[in-house]
Amino acid sequence: HPDSVPVLEKLRSLEPISMRGMPPIVWDKAEDYYVYDRHGNQWLDWSSGVLVTNAGHGVKEVRDAIIAQVQSGLLHNYVFPSEERAELTELLISLAPADLKKVFLLTTGSEATECAIKLSRSHGIKVGGRGKIGIIGFERGFHGRTLGSQQAGGMAGQKNWIVNEDPAIFTVPFPDGYWQPDVTFDCFLKAIEQRGLKPENIAGVMMETYQGVGPDFAPTEYVRQLAEWCRKHQIVLTFDEVQAGFGRTGKFWAFEHYGLAPDLICCGKGISSSLPLSAVIGRAEIMDQFPPGSMTSTHTGNPVCCAAAMAAIRKILREKMTENAAALEPVLLAGLKKIQAQHPAVIGHVTAKGLVAGMQTVKVGTKDPDHDLAHRIIELCYQKGLLLFAPVGAWGQTVKIAPPLSIPKDALEEGLIVLEEATAQAVS
Ligand code: PMP
Repeated sequence: HPDSVPVLEKLRSLEPISMRGMPPIVWDKAEDYYVYDRHGNQWLDWSSGVLVTNAGHGVKEVRDAIIAQVQSGLLHNYVFPSEERAELTELLISLAPADLKKVFLLTTGSEATECAIKLSRSHGIKVGGRGKIGIIGFERGFHGRTLGSQQAGGMAGQKNWIVNEDPAIFTVPFPDGYWQPDVTFDCFLKAIEQRGLKPENIAGVMMETYQGVGPDFAPTEYVRQLAEWCRKHQIVLTFDEVQAGFGRTGKFWAFEHYGLAPDLICCGKGISSSLPLSAVIGRAEIMDQFPPGSMTSTHTGNPVCCAAAMAAIRKILREKMTENAAALEPVLLAGLKKIQAQHPAVIGHVTAKGLVAGMQTVKVGTKDPDHDLAHRIIELCYQKGLLLFAPVGAWGQTVKIAPPLSIPKDALEEGLIVLEEATAQAVS
Protein backbone atom coordinates (compact mmCIF):
# COMPACT_ATOMS: atom_id res chain seq x y z
CA HIS A 1 0.00 0.00 0.00
CA PRO A 2 1.45 3.42 -0.94
CA ASP A 3 0.85 4.79 2.59
CA SER A 4 3.29 2.18 3.91
CA VAL A 5 6.16 3.71 1.97
CA PRO A 6 7.28 6.21 4.68
CA VAL A 7 7.53 3.40 7.26
CA LEU A 8 9.45 1.19 4.84
CA GLU A 9 11.79 4.05 3.95
CA LYS A 10 12.44 4.87 7.61
CA LEU A 11 13.36 1.27 8.32
CA ARG A 12 15.57 1.08 5.25
CA SER A 13 17.51 4.12 6.31
CA LEU A 14 17.70 3.43 10.08
CA GLU A 15 18.22 -0.33 10.32
CA PRO A 16 21.14 -2.44 9.13
CA ILE A 17 20.81 -4.04 5.70
CA SER A 18 20.53 -7.41 7.42
CA MET A 19 17.00 -6.49 8.49
CA ARG A 20 15.75 -6.22 4.91
CA GLY A 21 14.36 -8.88 2.63
CA MET A 22 10.88 -9.55 3.94
CA PRO A 23 7.77 -8.80 1.89
CA PRO A 24 7.03 -5.04 2.23
CA ILE A 25 3.90 -5.41 4.31
CA VAL A 26 3.58 -3.28 7.43
CA TRP A 27 1.73 -5.47 9.89
CA ASP A 28 -0.96 -3.65 11.81
CA LYS A 29 -2.68 -6.56 13.50
CA ALA A 30 -2.70 -10.31 13.29
CA GLU A 31 -5.52 -12.64 14.23
CA ASP A 32 -5.13 -16.39 14.41
CA TYR A 33 -3.91 -17.29 10.90
CA TYR A 34 -4.46 -13.92 9.25
CA VAL A 35 -2.31 -10.79 9.13
CA TYR A 36 -3.64 -7.31 8.31
CA ASP A 37 -2.17 -3.97 7.38
CA ARG A 38 -3.84 -0.76 8.53
CA HIS A 39 -5.53 -0.30 5.17
CA GLY A 40 -7.72 -3.33 5.63
CA ASN A 41 -5.67 -5.67 3.45
CA GLN A 42 -5.70 -9.24 4.67
CA TRP A 43 -3.18 -12.03 4.15
CA LEU A 44 -3.47 -15.69 4.93
CA ASP A 45 -0.35 -16.18 7.03
CA TRP A 46 1.99 -19.04 6.16
CA SER A 47 4.88 -17.71 8.24
CA SER A 48 3.68 -17.67 11.88
CA GLY A 49 6.04 -14.69 12.17
CA VAL A 50 8.97 -17.02 12.10
CA LEU A 51 7.38 -20.21 13.37
CA VAL A 52 6.45 -18.46 16.60
CA THR A 53 2.66 -18.19 16.64
CA ASN A 54 1.92 -21.92 16.68
CA ALA A 55 -1.23 -21.31 18.75
CA GLY A 56 -2.32 -18.55 16.37
CA HIS A 57 -1.58 -14.84 16.23
CA GLY A 58 -2.84 -12.70 19.10
CA VAL A 59 -5.28 -15.33 20.30
CA LYS A 60 -7.63 -14.38 23.12
CA GLU A 61 -6.27 -16.80 25.72
CA VAL A 62 -2.72 -15.52 25.27
CA ARG A 63 -3.77 -11.87 25.27
CA ASP A 64 -5.93 -12.39 28.37
CA ALA A 65 -3.07 -14.11 30.21
CA ILE A 66 -0.69 -11.29 29.34
CA ILE A 67 -3.21 -8.64 30.39
CA ALA A 68 -3.96 -10.42 33.69
CA GLN A 69 -0.26 -10.69 34.48
CA VAL A 70 0.32 -7.05 33.61
CA GLN A 71 -2.60 -6.04 35.80
CA SER A 72 -1.18 -7.99 38.73
CA GLY A 73 1.63 -5.45 38.67
CA LEU A 74 4.45 -8.02 38.51
CA LEU A 75 6.32 -7.36 35.28
CA HIS A 76 9.79 -8.43 36.33
CA ASN A 77 11.38 -10.27 39.23
CA TYR A 78 14.84 -11.43 38.02
CA VAL A 79 15.56 -14.84 39.58
CA PHE A 80 13.70 -14.14 42.79
CA PRO A 81 11.22 -16.99 43.14
CA SER A 82 7.90 -16.57 41.35
CA GLU A 83 4.74 -18.61 41.03
CA GLU A 84 4.73 -18.07 37.27
CA ARG A 85 8.14 -19.71 36.90
CA ALA A 86 7.15 -22.59 39.16
CA GLU A 87 4.01 -23.23 37.16
CA LEU A 88 5.64 -23.03 33.73
CA THR A 89 8.62 -25.21 34.64
CA GLU A 90 6.21 -27.82 35.99
CA LEU A 91 4.17 -27.70 32.78
CA LEU A 92 7.27 -28.07 30.60
CA ILE A 93 8.57 -31.01 32.62
CA SER A 94 5.19 -32.71 32.31
CA LEU A 95 5.60 -32.48 28.52
CA ALA A 96 9.23 -33.62 28.38
CA PRO A 97 10.61 -37.18 28.31
CA ALA A 98 10.72 -38.79 31.77
CA ASP A 99 14.50 -38.50 32.23
CA LEU A 100 14.56 -34.76 31.66
CA LYS A 101 13.77 -33.25 35.02
CA LYS A 102 15.12 -29.69 35.06
CA VAL A 103 14.25 -26.54 33.14
CA PHE A 104 16.20 -23.32 32.71
CA LEU A 105 14.16 -20.47 31.24
CA LEU A 106 15.82 -17.91 29.00
CA THR A 107 14.70 -15.31 26.50
CA THR A 108 15.83 -16.29 22.99
CA GLY A 109 16.57 -19.49 21.13
CA SER A 110 20.21 -18.46 20.71
CA GLU A 111 20.64 -18.20 24.45
CA ALA A 112 19.17 -21.66 24.90
CA THR A 113 21.54 -23.28 22.38
CA GLU A 114 24.50 -21.28 23.69
CA CYS A 115 23.64 -22.56 27.15
CA ALA A 116 23.39 -26.15 25.88
CA ILE A 117 26.90 -25.83 24.40
CA LYS A 118 28.20 -24.60 27.75
CA LEU A 119 26.47 -27.40 29.65
CA SER A 120 27.70 -30.05 27.17
CA ARG A 121 31.30 -28.87 27.37
CA SER A 122 31.33 -28.55 31.07
CA HIS A 123 29.88 -32.05 31.33
CA GLY A 124 32.47 -33.36 28.84
CA ILE A 125 35.29 -31.95 30.93
CA LYS A 126 33.76 -33.44 34.07
CA VAL A 127 33.53 -36.96 32.65
CA GLY A 128 36.52 -36.97 30.30
CA GLY A 129 38.91 -34.17 31.20
CA ARG A 130 39.93 -31.11 29.21
CA GLY A 131 40.35 -33.10 26.00
CA LYS A 132 36.60 -33.76 25.84
CA ILE A 133 35.34 -30.40 24.65
CA GLY A 134 34.34 -30.92 21.00
CA ILE A 135 30.88 -29.77 19.91
CA ILE A 136 29.50 -31.14 16.68
CA GLY A 137 26.77 -29.43 14.72
CA PHE A 138 25.48 -30.02 11.20
CA GLU A 139 26.01 -28.29 7.89
CA ARG A 140 23.18 -25.87 7.19
CA GLY A 141 21.95 -26.25 10.77
CA PHE A 142 20.83 -23.10 12.51
CA HIS A 143 21.10 -22.54 16.24
CA GLY A 144 21.21 -18.77 16.51
CA ARG A 145 23.53 -15.84 15.99
CA THR A 146 25.61 -15.65 19.16
CA LEU A 147 29.24 -16.76 19.11
CA GLY A 148 28.85 -20.41 20.09
CA SER A 149 25.42 -20.99 18.60
CA GLN A 150 26.49 -19.60 15.25
CA GLN A 151 29.59 -21.76 15.15
CA ALA A 152 27.57 -24.86 15.96
CA GLY A 153 25.31 -23.96 13.04
CA GLY A 154 26.41 -24.59 9.52
CA MET A 155 25.31 -21.70 7.36
CA ALA A 156 28.28 -21.17 5.08
CA GLY A 157 29.31 -17.59 4.47
CA GLN A 158 27.89 -16.21 7.68
CA LYS A 159 30.86 -17.02 9.88
CA ASN A 160 33.39 -14.61 8.40
CA TRP A 161 33.21 -12.40 11.49
CA ILE A 162 34.31 -15.17 13.83
CA VAL A 163 38.01 -14.43 13.99
CA ASN A 164 39.31 -16.95 16.44
CA GLU A 165 36.98 -19.67 15.32
CA ASP A 166 36.81 -22.29 17.99
CA PRO A 167 38.33 -25.40 16.38
CA ALA A 168 36.48 -27.61 18.82
CA ILE A 169 33.10 -26.55 17.44
CA PHE A 170 32.60 -27.90 13.95
CA THR A 171 29.95 -29.15 11.59
CA VAL A 172 29.44 -32.39 9.67
CA PRO A 173 27.15 -33.18 6.69
CA PHE A 174 23.42 -33.31 7.43
CA PRO A 175 21.52 -36.32 6.05
CA ASP A 176 18.96 -34.28 4.10
CA GLY A 177 18.32 -36.95 1.46
CA TYR A 178 18.29 -34.54 -1.49
CA TRP A 179 21.21 -32.11 -1.67
CA GLN A 180 23.55 -34.73 -0.27
CA PRO A 181 21.71 -37.98 -0.84
CA ASP A 182 24.40 -40.36 0.43
CA VAL A 183 25.02 -39.10 3.95
CA THR A 184 24.96 -42.02 6.38
CA PHE A 185 26.06 -42.22 9.98
CA ASP A 186 29.43 -43.51 8.73
CA CYS A 187 30.01 -40.04 7.23
CA PHE A 188 29.54 -38.60 10.71
CA LEU A 189 32.15 -40.95 12.16
CA LYS A 190 34.53 -40.29 9.25
CA ALA A 191 34.24 -36.51 9.64
CA ILE A 192 35.41 -36.83 13.25
CA GLU A 193 38.23 -39.16 12.32
CA GLN A 194 39.38 -36.83 9.54
CA ARG A 195 39.94 -34.14 12.17
CA GLY A 196 42.11 -36.50 14.11
CA LEU A 197 39.50 -36.74 16.86
CA LYS A 198 37.99 -39.61 18.79
CA PRO A 199 34.72 -39.87 20.73
CA GLU A 200 36.80 -39.13 23.87
CA ASN A 201 37.34 -35.64 22.42
CA ILE A 202 33.66 -34.90 21.88
CA ALA A 203 31.50 -33.33 24.58
CA GLY A 204 28.27 -32.76 22.72
CA VAL A 205 26.27 -33.03 19.52
CA MET A 206 23.68 -30.44 18.61
CA MET A 207 21.09 -31.32 16.02
CA GLU A 208 17.81 -30.20 14.58
CA THR A 209 16.27 -33.54 13.63
CA TYR A 210 14.02 -31.42 11.47
CA GLN A 211 16.43 -28.91 9.98
CA GLY A 212 14.61 -25.61 9.66
CA VAL A 213 16.59 -24.16 6.81
CA GLY A 214 15.58 -26.99 4.44
CA PRO A 215 13.21 -27.86 5.75
CA ASP A 216 14.72 -31.34 5.80
CA PHE A 217 14.18 -34.32 8.03
CA ALA A 218 16.94 -36.64 9.18
CA PRO A 219 16.26 -40.35 8.58
CA THR A 220 15.26 -42.47 11.57
CA GLU A 221 18.17 -44.87 11.24
CA TYR A 222 20.71 -42.04 11.27
CA VAL A 223 19.25 -40.39 14.36
CA ARG A 224 19.00 -43.70 16.22
CA GLN A 225 22.62 -44.54 15.47
CA LEU A 226 23.69 -41.07 16.53
CA ALA A 227 21.79 -41.27 19.83
CA GLU A 228 23.25 -44.71 20.55
CA TRP A 229 26.79 -43.49 19.80
CA CYS A 230 26.34 -40.45 22.06
CA ARG A 231 25.07 -42.63 24.91
CA LYS A 232 27.96 -45.06 24.53
CA HIS A 233 30.59 -42.30 24.69
CA GLN A 234 29.05 -40.03 27.35
CA ILE A 235 28.40 -37.33 24.79
CA VAL A 236 25.57 -34.93 25.53
CA LEU A 237 22.96 -35.05 22.78
CA THR A 238 21.01 -31.82 22.32
CA PHE A 239 18.03 -31.56 20.04
CA ASP A 240 17.33 -28.00 19.00
CA GLU A 241 13.55 -27.85 19.00
CA VAL A 242 13.38 -24.05 18.73
CA GLN A 243 11.48 -24.36 15.43
CA ALA A 244 10.33 -27.93 15.68
CA GLY A 245 8.76 -27.96 19.13
CA PHE A 246 5.24 -27.25 20.34
CA GLY A 247 3.45 -29.33 17.75
CA ARG A 248 4.96 -27.93 14.57
CA THR A 249 5.91 -31.27 12.97
CA GLY A 250 2.79 -33.17 13.98
CA LYS A 251 4.30 -34.47 17.24
CA PHE A 252 4.68 -32.23 20.28
CA TRP A 253 8.49 -32.56 19.93
CA ALA A 254 10.02 -33.46 16.58
CA PHE A 255 12.28 -36.08 18.20
CA GLU A 256 9.18 -38.11 19.09
CA HIS A 257 9.14 -39.17 15.42
CA TYR A 258 12.31 -41.13 16.21
CA GLY A 259 11.12 -42.85 19.38
CA LEU A 260 14.01 -41.56 21.47
CA ALA A 261 14.91 -38.66 23.74
CA PRO A 262 17.92 -36.34 23.91
CA ASP A 263 19.83 -35.29 27.03
CA LEU A 264 18.97 -31.65 26.45
CA ILE A 265 16.13 -29.95 24.59
CA CYS A 266 16.45 -26.34 23.48
CA CYS A 267 13.16 -24.64 22.73
CA GLY A 268 11.76 -21.17 22.15
CA LYS A 269 9.61 -19.54 19.46
CA GLY A 270 6.30 -21.46 19.67
CA ILE A 271 6.61 -21.85 23.45
CA SER A 272 4.69 -18.60 24.02
CA SER A 273 3.32 -18.06 20.51
CA SER A 274 4.07 -14.39 21.23
CA LEU A 275 6.52 -12.87 23.74
CA PRO A 276 10.23 -13.79 23.89
CA LEU A 277 10.89 -16.88 25.95
CA SER A 278 13.12 -19.92 25.54
CA ALA A 279 14.15 -22.90 27.62
CA VAL A 280 16.70 -25.62 28.06
CA ILE A 281 15.12 -28.79 29.42
CA GLY A 282 17.48 -31.54 30.47
CA ARG A 283 18.80 -34.30 32.62
CA ALA A 284 19.43 -33.16 36.19
CA GLU A 285 23.09 -34.21 36.24
CA ILE A 286 23.80 -32.01 33.22
CA MET A 287 21.63 -29.07 34.26
CA ASP A 288 22.93 -28.98 37.85
CA GLN A 289 26.61 -28.38 37.11
CA PHE A 290 26.84 -24.73 38.13
CA PRO A 291 26.53 -23.39 41.68
CA PRO A 292 23.83 -20.90 42.77
CA GLY A 293 23.99 -17.58 40.96
CA SER A 294 26.40 -18.69 38.23
CA MET A 295 23.99 -19.68 35.48
CA THR A 296 21.24 -17.08 35.39
CA SER A 297 19.92 -14.37 33.12
CA THR A 298 18.34 -10.98 33.80
CA HIS A 299 15.09 -11.80 32.03
CA THR A 300 14.91 -15.50 32.83
CA GLY A 301 11.31 -16.55 33.21
CA ASN A 302 9.88 -13.06 32.95
CA PRO A 303 6.41 -13.41 34.55
CA VAL A 304 4.53 -11.86 31.63
CA CYS A 305 6.30 -14.16 29.16
CA CYS A 306 5.62 -17.14 31.43
CA ALA A 307 1.93 -16.28 31.56
CA ALA A 308 1.83 -16.04 27.76
CA ALA A 309 3.64 -19.37 27.43
CA MET A 310 1.30 -21.23 29.75
CA ALA A 311 -1.73 -19.91 27.90
CA ALA A 312 -0.23 -20.76 24.50
CA ILE A 313 0.87 -24.27 25.48
CA ARG A 314 -2.47 -25.05 27.11
CA LYS A 315 -4.28 -23.86 24.00
CA ILE A 316 -2.10 -26.04 21.77
CA LEU A 317 -2.88 -29.03 24.01
CA ARG A 318 -6.57 -28.31 24.59
CA GLU A 319 -7.36 -27.65 20.96
CA LYS A 320 -5.24 -30.58 19.76
CA MET A 321 -3.21 -28.42 17.42
CA THR A 322 -0.40 -30.97 17.22
CA GLU A 323 -2.96 -33.46 15.95
CA ASN A 324 -4.25 -30.85 13.50
CA ALA A 325 -0.71 -30.41 12.18
CA ALA A 326 -0.36 -34.17 11.74
CA ALA A 327 -3.76 -34.48 10.07
CA LEU A 328 -3.03 -31.68 7.59
CA GLU A 329 0.43 -32.95 6.60
CA PRO A 330 -0.95 -35.16 3.79
CA VAL A 331 -3.02 -32.25 2.45
CA LEU A 332 0.00 -29.98 2.40
CA LEU A 333 2.29 -32.60 0.89
CA ALA A 334 -0.25 -33.58 -1.78
CA GLY A 335 -0.68 -29.90 -2.72
CA LEU A 336 3.08 -29.41 -3.07
CA LYS A 337 3.52 -32.65 -4.99
CA LYS A 338 0.81 -31.54 -7.39
CA ILE A 339 2.69 -28.28 -8.02
CA GLN A 340 5.96 -30.18 -8.42
CA ALA A 341 4.32 -32.50 -10.96
CA GLN A 342 3.21 -29.44 -12.93
CA HIS A 343 6.77 -28.04 -13.01
CA PRO A 344 9.12 -31.00 -12.52
CA ALA A 345 12.08 -29.26 -14.17
CA VAL A 346 12.19 -26.37 -11.68
CA ILE A 347 10.67 -27.69 -8.45
CA GLY A 348 13.45 -30.02 -7.40
CA HIS A 349 12.20 -31.26 -4.08
CA VAL A 350 9.24 -30.88 -1.75
CA THR A 351 8.98 -31.88 1.90
CA ALA A 352 6.33 -31.61 4.60
CA LYS A 353 6.15 -32.76 8.19
CA GLY A 354 3.12 -31.66 10.17
CA LEU A 355 2.62 -28.03 9.29
CA VAL A 356 6.08 -27.15 8.09
CA ALA A 357 6.93 -27.63 4.47
CA GLY A 358 9.33 -26.54 1.79
CA MET A 359 9.34 -26.29 -1.96
CA GLN A 360 12.84 -26.11 -3.40
CA THR A 361 13.39 -24.34 -6.68
CA VAL A 362 16.16 -25.31 -9.10
CA LYS A 363 17.39 -24.14 -12.49
CA VAL A 364 15.71 -26.06 -15.32
CA GLY A 365 16.53 -29.75 -15.17
CA THR A 366 19.42 -29.37 -12.72
CA LYS A 367 20.01 -29.42 -8.99
CA ASP A 368 21.33 -25.84 -9.01
CA PRO A 369 19.32 -23.75 -6.55
CA ASP A 370 17.25 -20.98 -8.14
CA HIS A 371 16.85 -18.14 -5.66
CA ASP A 372 15.20 -15.81 -8.18
CA LEU A 373 12.40 -18.23 -8.89
CA ALA A 374 11.68 -18.78 -5.17
CA HIS A 375 11.66 -15.02 -4.73
CA ARG A 376 9.23 -14.49 -7.64
CA ILE A 377 6.83 -17.13 -6.34
CA ILE A 378 6.79 -15.56 -2.88
CA GLU A 379 6.26 -12.09 -4.30
CA LEU A 380 3.33 -13.24 -6.42
CA CYS A 381 1.86 -15.02 -3.39
CA TYR A 382 1.82 -11.94 -1.22
CA GLN A 383 0.35 -9.91 -4.06
CA LYS A 384 -2.46 -12.48 -4.09
CA GLY A 385 -3.01 -12.42 -0.31
CA LEU A 386 -0.80 -15.27 0.87
CA LEU A 387 2.02 -14.29 3.20
CA LEU A 388 5.29 -16.22 3.19
CA PHE A 389 8.65 -15.06 4.45
CA ALA A 390 11.60 -14.36 2.18
CA PRO A 391 13.12 -17.49 0.59
CA VAL A 392 15.05 -19.68 3.04
CA GLY A 393 17.49 -22.50 2.37
CA ALA A 394 21.26 -22.43 2.24
CA TRP A 395 21.09 -20.80 -1.18
CA GLY A 396 17.81 -18.89 -0.74
CA GLN A 397 16.05 -21.44 -2.93
CA THR A 398 13.21 -22.52 -0.68
CA VAL A 399 9.62 -21.42 -0.42
CA LYS A 400 8.93 -22.33 3.18
CA ILE A 401 5.46 -22.89 4.55
CA ALA A 402 4.66 -22.70 8.25
CA PRO A 403 1.14 -21.53 9.08
CA PRO A 404 -0.16 -21.28 12.64
CA LEU A 405 -1.17 -24.77 13.80
CA SER A 406 -4.74 -23.56 14.22
CA ILE A 407 -5.23 -23.30 10.45
CA PRO A 408 -8.23 -25.33 9.23
CA LYS A 409 -8.12 -27.56 6.15
CA ASP A 410 -10.11 -25.20 3.92
CA ALA A 411 -7.76 -22.27 4.55
CA LEU A 412 -4.75 -24.49 3.88
CA GLU A 413 -6.31 -25.62 0.61
CA GLU A 414 -7.11 -22.04 -0.30
CA GLY A 415 -3.44 -21.15 0.22
CA LEU A 416 -2.33 -24.09 -1.91
CA ILE A 417 -4.45 -22.83 -4.80
CA VAL A 418 -2.75 -19.42 -4.52
CA LEU A 419 0.68 -21.06 -4.39
CA GLU A 420 -0.16 -23.16 -7.44
CA GLU A 421 -1.24 -20.08 -9.40
CA ALA A 422 1.77 -18.07 -8.26
CA THR A 423 4.17 -20.85 -9.23
CA ALA A 424 2.62 -21.24 -12.68
CA GLN A 425 2.88 -17.49 -13.21
CA ALA A 426 6.44 -17.28 -11.92
CA VAL A 427 7.60 -20.15 -14.11
CA SER A 428 5.96 -18.88 -17.30
N1 PMP B 1 17.52 -22.65 16.71
C1 PMP B 1 16.71 -22.76 15.66
C2 PMP B 1 16.41 -24.11 15.09
C3 PMP B 1 16.13 -21.61 15.10
O1 PMP B 1 15.33 -21.71 14.04
C4 PMP B 1 16.41 -20.35 15.68
C5 PMP B 1 15.80 -19.07 15.13
N2 PMP B 1 15.48 -19.05 13.80
C6 PMP B 1 17.28 -20.30 16.76
C7 PMP B 1 17.80 -21.47 17.27
C8 PMP B 1 17.64 -18.99 17.40
O2 PMP B 1 16.57 -18.44 18.04
P1 PMP B 1 16.51 -16.86 18.35
O3 PMP B 1 16.39 -16.16 17.03
O4 PMP B 1 15.29 -16.72 19.22
O5 PMP B 1 17.76 -16.51 19.06
